[in-house]
Amino acid sequence: MSRLAQRTTRIDASGIRRVFDLARSLKDPINLSIGQPDFDVPDELKQAACDAIHAGHNTYTPTQGIAPLRSQLLAEEKAFSGREWSESELLVTSGVSGGLFLALLALVEEGDEVIIPDPYFVMYKHLVSLFGGTPVYLDTYDSDFGIDPEKLAALITPKTKALLLNSPANPTGRILGRKELEDIATVCRKQDTLVISDEIYRQFAYTEMVSMAEVYENTLVLAGHSKAYGMTGWRLGYACGPADIIGAMTMVQQYSFVCAPAVTQFAALACPQVILGPYIEEYRVKRDLMVGILGDHFELAPPDGAFYLWAKAPGQHTGSSFVEKAIANNLLIIPGSVFSERDTHFRICYTVPDEKLRQGAELLCKLARG
Ligand code: PMP
Repeated sequence: MSRLAQRTTRIDASGIRRVFDLARSLKDPINLSIGQPDFDVPDELKQAACDAIHAGHNTYTPTQGIAPLRSQLLAEEKAFSGREWSESELLVTSGVSGGLFLALLALVEEGDEVIIPDPYFVMYKHLVSLFGGTPVYLDTYDSDFGIDPEKLAALITPKTKALLLNSPANPTGRILGRKELEDIATVCRKQDTLVISDEIYRQFAYTEMVSMAEVYENTLVLAGHSKAYGMTGWRLGYACGPADIIGAMTMVQQYSFVCAPAVTQFAALACPQVILGPYIEEYRVKRDLMVGILGDHFELAPPDGAFYLWAKAPGQHTGSSFVEKAIANNLLIIPGSVFSERDTHFRICYTVPDEKLRQGAELLCKLARG
């Protein structure tokens, strides 16, 4: 008999691990698989982090997060979505991952269902399963990777705990427009279904980006600093939402993470000094470069935001067989089966220098031609 808890058997990391194992076997590959920005933390924030350490901000902070950061975040949310959250509706977390973990732990129990649009960010289905829930997939392939309101309505049952949205999306890059969000809100309002809205890529928007919180009351927003400020290792994010959920998440954080990293919280007070425009513009240009080269050879999802492209494997290939072929040619991309119940697509992350990007795109086109 295993000494491990039964819940650990409900999840596995084999899909993505296989890709990373393969990656290790390659010598200097063209690597379009890494889901993080390629710019370093801006100097203003590095300085603020050093200053925080020297000023002695190295201890525990309040579980909810430090007061000046909380004020800053509440003001930023008001400016972004028009939503005026109160103090009891905000929790500073250890990245959006921390927010997802706490939210799903606080909400999901045996028998509960969480609706997850497919394709999805890998963590979602594993956390839902870990906590005893059932992921219910909402296929989006036939609706241009948006949400078909009728299909959504058909999936909502008395067991539904939440709909987990992600816009701009990993892995598709799709942004859900205002009208789409309003249609989703209309469906969710019928049973007062909670929407967990993962907006970690909200700054990487090449078309209008609307927060779900702006159009729907019963929303838990998860946002964070990892991607926009190149600080994936600094572990900072936050959750804004109904006070009962934030209260339960705060209680669990108290007995687990304790608080988000102190130095990072103090450093983030300097985030408003950083001008993000040029960083985002750089990725918009990379997106255009990639769409320009790949557009004639691959069927692409609408590349509205984030820094991913979601492409259909060419010809008779499955996502996995095409990725195998790419890896045999020293190009690393991720098979769609890691992010989906289907195996028809692959994900490209374009946060690499232009020269590598061009090489990767041209190689992909060559492979598609056969
Ligand atoms: N949500 C999505 C959609 C992501 O792509 C990621 C990171 N890959 C996360 C959440 C987690 O981000 P973090 O914990 O660094 O804030």
